[in-house]
Amino acid sequence: MRFKLQVHLPHYITKWFPLAIWRMPDDTKTVYLTFDDGPIPEVTPWVLELLRENNIEATFFAVGENVFRYPEIFEQIIEEGHAVGNHTYHHLQGLKSDNLTYYKDIVQADRLIGSNLFRPPHGWLKRGQYRYLSGRYKIVMWDVISCDYNQNITKEEVLQNVLDFARAGSIITFHDSKKAAEHLYWALPRAIKALRAEGYEFGKIEFPKVRRLFYSPAIQRIRRFRNNLRQFSRWA
Ligand SMILES: [Zn+2]
Repeated sequence: MRFKLQVHLPHYITKWFPLAIWRMPDDTKTVYLTFDDGPIPEVTPWVLELLRENNIEATFFAVGENVFRYPEIFEQIIEEGHAVGNHTYHHLQGLKSDNLTYYKDIVQADRLIGSNLFRPPHGWLKRGQYRYLSGRYKIVMWDVISCDYNQNITKEEVLQNVLDFARAGSIITFHDSKKAAEHLYWALPRAIKALRAEGYEFGKIEFPKVRRLFYSPAIQRIRRFRNNLRQFSRWA
């Protein structure tokens, strides 16, 4: 396998964010298509139709302001059985944002999207943001990026990126954006066909919502308090 940092990150880099999801379990030959930056009328309905024709469920990381503009497309995504995730409201870049602005933007998007999945725009976060958000969301990164948004590569290379690096459990990233459209229209149907021919199934990314009563520091405090109480009653 060629080494291509842009498309597929080596293991030691993904270990920087161990709580994030980089790949799904590989016990079945399943790949997970994900689409970032929509929904928009120019591209998302086309993607939905292609997925419907191929009987595929996928995961859409939606941008809040697009959901606000095109709620009917967002509804359609959900009605057709796909999973959705939060991709901030204004497509903010974590590294360039102060934490409070960033979190507020995510909460604003959460009100429309209502998902426990989060994918950071541009794929990167500050360490503190990662820690904070990991307690609230499943941060979903990727195993393979198609680079469909990259105007400096050809549509054939986009397809090749996917086919070279896809493996069981791969989370594969495309974009339902205008910038990626030309590459997407060409590469996505071919990628689906080729992966199917190789025996892959397609899945969506879902994690049960975990309702936690306490964050762990609170639990630890309560335990310590109880222990002290027990000790105390022994002495008394
Ligand atoms: Zn994005």
